[in-house]
Amino acid sequence: MAAVRAIGFDLDHTLAIDNRLERVALLRLLEVILREGGESVGTLADEIDNIDELLKRQRRGDFSIDDAVRRFIAEHRVQPADRYVERFRFDAAHMVDEFVVPLPGVAPMLDAIRGRGIAMAVLSNGWNPLQSRKAERAGFSGTVLVSSDIGVQKPDSRAFTRLLEALGTRAEDTWYVGDNPYGDIAGAQRIGMETVWMNWERQTYPAELEPPTLTIRGFGELLGVLPEAARAR
Ligand SMILES: [Mg+2]
Repeated sequence: MAAVRAIGFDLDHTLAIDNRLERVALLRLLEVILREGGESVGTLADEIDNIDELLKRQRRGDFSIDDAVRRFIAEHRVQPADRYVERFRFDAAHMVDEFVVPLPGVAPMLDAIRGRGIAMAVLSNGWNPLQSRKAERAGFSGTVLVSSDIGVQKPDSRAFTRLLEALGTRAEDTWYVGDNPYGDIAGAQRIGMETVWMNWERQTYPAELEPPTLTIRGFGELLGVLPEAARAR
């Protein structure tokens, strides 16, 4: 492999945690909806299960975040839907400072990589401006590609192709760093990128998957192995 010219990063649980921001934003929207005459779908526990299921399906790519919120609004029988979608998007984006916590060492790591002249971009399954604000909160300034804008979700190879286009590098010169073995590592491997599994949560790598190029538990390790790994290939 040639020198590492660029690194793509996953965002959620790689650069930052968001402490279930979207779930809380939907619960806050529920509060508004019920106050404005909407119908409940059951107990609070039922409402939470419903929200978790909607967000799970949205993250899996079944529908967009706007569609998830529209479904939520339709279930609670309030109108006009657009107003509630806008409110959700606005509230969620403004909850970032309160909810999002960067992982330890993210800012110095990004500075150091920038200092080495390596290009960076974020590729995330999610929507803007939420993901851009989260990235900014984590200290990342640069391109933030989100699935709702590019129209495909990781692990789809086309998402990683879009990342390479944004970085202006080839797969063999580019690394991808992420916490999810299926979405991040397997997806990036499929188009020939080197992969770094950020395993700060100390998980076991799924036996059925091809292992990542590197496994790290903190960003100090990434900086430590970056030049060495590049030389080794
Ligand atoms: Mg992630």
